[in-house]
Amino acid sequence: ALQAGIVGLPNVGKSTLFNALSSAKAQAANFPFCTIEPNVGVITVPDQRLVELEKLVNPQRVVPTTVEIVDIAGLVKGASKGEGLGNQFLGNIRATDAIIHVVRCFSDDNVIHVDGNVNPVRDKEIIDTELQLKDLDTIDKKISKSEKQAKTGGDKDAQRGVEILKALKQHLEEGKNARAFEVTPEEKEKFLDELCLLTIKPVIYVCNVDEKSVISGNEFTAALQEAIKAEKAEVLFISAAIESDIAVMESYEDRQMFLEDMGLSESGVARLIQATYKLLNLATYFTAGVQEVRAWTITKGFIAPQAAGVIHSDFEKGFIRAEVIKYNDFLKYKSEAACRENGKLAVQGKTYIVEDGDIMHFLFNV
Ligand code: GDP
Repeated sequence: ALQAGIVGLPNVGKSTLFNALSSAKAQAANFPFCTIEPNVGVITVPDQRLVELEKLVNPQRVVPTTVEIVDIAGLVKGASKGEGLGNQFLGNIRATDAIIHVVRCFSDDNVIHVDGNVNPVRDKEIIDTELQLKDLDTIDKKISKSEKQAKTGGDKDAQRGVEILKALKQHLEEGKNARAFEVTPEEKEKFLDELCLLTIKPVIYVCNVDEKSVISGNEFTAALQEAIKAEKAEVLFISAAIESDIAVMESYEDRQMFLEDMGLSESGVARLIQATYKLLNLATYFTAGVQEVRAWTITKGFIAPQAAGVIHSDFEKGFIRAEVIKYNDFLKYKSEAACRENGKLAVQGKTYIVEDGDIMHFLFNV
């Protein structure tokens, strides 16, 4: 499954947010290094379309789709040199597909800040620097390897690789992240993907704000937004404290009332999950039978057999064809039979690229 890792300095609210996300029971305490084991949470993706499909199909059960979120604690200044178990944490980041970077944008004298005062721009740079230093290590190793290959084999590709890596090295030394490095998709795939660089992973910033700032932010969020203008990354204002209050509320109505009182239509957790889904380049298709209405996660661009493989590898191997109904057609005609009668059920083959919202029925050999 695709994974997003939550990173940030100690005491910025990562575990609080993670707990709200997963309702897992990691300890949130007021001191650095509280959460040293990476916690993996499986998070349900809220999707209004499932609610609508349920009304029409009236199935025995409804199964939403999920993404995995890992709480990566303990990143501090010096992590790339192994401080505070730094290397282990950096390794955990390497295994993720995207980064949720939490920065503290609330003042609270009761919550100790590892660097003395609230300053999200500095905090973000501390984390970035550690990740960049780690990437520089990786790149240096690769450069010396490729240089040998370029010399001995007269290998043209290796030479081009060295050129790109040296340019990227300079870019990182200027304090920039690899994700902002300009390279063609082909060369990225050829020379960079195998390195699993940390700063090349897509990122969302979460400003952990006080209650009053969830809608329009505050001076801290403004400073951060100014600092990351060039990154074109999404920035969310979330109050981890509010989210943990909401997470323990039993009824949906209570939650909605609480949110409305605050002028919000959706919880920060819901916004974050949706943003993460987008960041990971994921799409959802549905299966809609009387037993089960279910959402399935695919990477955008998956062809029909790959999408079938998400359900079961046999579905991919034995794929014959798929019957596809667009979500909006299903909503309009209200059943598979009615869609079929009205020519809204398309038969698609192996090369069909599945779209977000497709309702799929796979036919396969066993
Ligand atoms: P982590 O080290 O980044 O995982 O931080 P934690 O989630 O453990 O939070 C550190 C401390 O900050 C805890 O005492 C939390 O209760 C507190 N905290 C977290 N989020 C908020 C928030 O939005 N507002 C306030 N006032 N305190 C918070």
